[in-house]
Amino acid sequence: MKKILITGGAGFIGSHVVRRFVTKYPEYHIFNLDALTYAGNLENIKDIEDKPNYTFIKGDIVDESFINDLFSENNFEGVLHLAAESHVDRSIEDPLAFVKTNVIGTMNLLNAAKNQWKNNFEGKRFYHISTDEVYGSLGAVGLFTEKTSYDPNSPYSASKASSDHFVRAYGETYGLPYVLTNCSNNYGSYHFPEKLIPLFINNIINNKPLPVYGDGNYTRDWLFVEDHAIAIDLVFHEGKNHETYNIGGFNEWKNIDLVKLLCQIMDEKLGRKKGTSEELITYVKDRPGHDLRYAIDASKINQELGWKPSVTFEEGLERTINWYLNNEEWLQNVTSGTYKDYYKKQYS
Ligand code: NAD
Repeated sequence: MKKILITGGAGFIGSHVVRRFVTKYPEYHIFNLDALTYAGNLENIKDIEDKPNYTFIKGDIVDESFINDLFSENNFEGVLHLAAESHVDRSIEDPLAFVKTNVIGTMNLLNAAKNQWKNNFEGKRFYHISTDEVYGSLGAVGLFTEKTSYDPNSPYSASKASSDHFVRAYGETYGLPYVLTNCSNNYGSYHFPEKLIPLFINNIINNKPLPVYGDGNYTRDWLFVEDHAIAIDLVFHEGKNHETYNIGGFNEWKNIDLVKLLCQIMDEKLGRKKGTSEELITYVKDRPGHDLRYAIDASKINQELGWKPSVTFEEGLERTINWYLNNEEWLQNVTSGTYKDYYKKQYS
């Protein structure tokens, strides 16, 4: 059985990737390595925890000797690396935590893979899952392509840019067979409610203010998380070594328009009078270094690997909102405890 290591599989995107790989590939044994930080939650993958081709390992990618031991004990043929500190606002508060996990942690995995695979790279693959935020900010027009220069503006995007560079450098210097993807904003089930869509759904349910940064004109491209997992599966199996692919939803929204759409749908779902939720919108002080616009040109992955989003934004949003409404217990569990302190500090 092929042993595949997936890092960060108890997080938002990682849980969808782990679920897809465990159920679709019984010939693989999937090792899910996750430190279970505030963002990691075993409830996200409860449905597959008893599968015979699945093993969960609690551990920190920053711990070099732990990672080296893990690789010596297991002959991994593939690594899908998603573990990261992922929230921009938290990176402004504590940038070093982002360097540790996103840069040093990635280095530890790269070194362990390089040492284990030595020069026998046949059938091996290191896949780094990254973000479009490494490209910096776009003006009103244009799209990020794979050739766009890196220009990160937040400690989060700087740490992801740095790890992308190391992955590429290990490919050039040591011949490590890697693939890299830079994806736009994801939305869907199991998303920690510090991020815009689940935060606002949760706040609307609880009649709490909807904090919109600046004038609300920041623009993002949104992709349904299950479509990202499909793209990751495709790139892992069919992407070319030493290549980068941009992944996006062809779906740009100004934050304020997206928030109003969410309010509209939630009013209908909750049987509230039209316009009720919009009254919760509150403009808050802008985030420093806030990038105006991200937009992805995903034509390379589309033309070379035949990938495109399988659901429309309307369908994806409908499924997402229904999931949060049907999983209020999950929402309550993840928004209790330390989440409350974080929320108070961030928005009071
Ligand atoms: P997330 O914050 O939901 O999950 C991250 C997971 O990594 C958590 O389970 C956490 O416990 C784990 N983790 C954190 N530090 C760790 C450490 N030191 N050792 C081991 N595990 C650790 O993040 P996400 O939104 O699922 O993002 C996953 C990856 O995809 C990240 O690399 C992120 O940069 C990238 N990405 C995210 C988006 C998005 O919209 N969410 C878009 C593009 C790319």
